[in-house]
Amino acid sequence: MSRATIADLANVTRTHSSTIPVDIYRIIRAHGIDIHCIKASSKFNGLYVRVEGVPVILLNARDAPTRRRFTAAHELYHHLSYTGGSTELRPLFYSVRERELSAPEIIEERQANRFAAALLMPDCAVKDMASAELSPAQMARRFGVSVEAMDIRLQELGLCHATGRQRSRLGS
Ligand SMILES: [Zn+2]
Repeated sequence: MSRATIADLANVTRTHSSTIPVDIYRIIRAHGIDIHCIKASSKFNGLYVRVEGVPVILLNARDAPTRRRFTAAHELYHHLSYTGGSTELRPLFYSVRERELSAPEIIEERQANRFAAALLMPDCAVKDMASAELSPAQMARRFGVSVEAMDIRLQELGLCHATGRQRSRLGS
């Protein structure tokens, strides 16, 4: 799925919630997906599975609400791109490094993250806030995402100001 297609898919998907922060759980329920929070170890972040045809998203109750929202949006992508058949469903661990994944898995995971970012941080709203000179931290609070996710989205949209924090992160 191309970058533009993912952005379009995010825009269509968002029609179930016109608010900021985006009501990701309402969107997921509108797709007939059951959501459950489990108290898992800090390594586990989320999972999309189908139980006898019923789509289910599992989230880690111990994750911060911002991270849970992003994970939920990420897993929603797996639901939307699910084509049936023998697709192997793997749990999401943000700690897993890309070298541990196969090439198709890396592509799918990156697409899921891109979709989650586009869904939770609509480009128009981000651009409005950027022109109103809100800081990344202020924007992150409004969108209900982590500052880290906000920074990545701002870079993706070419809106990042080279703050000290971003410079040190890129240099590390
Ligand atoms: Zn995933």
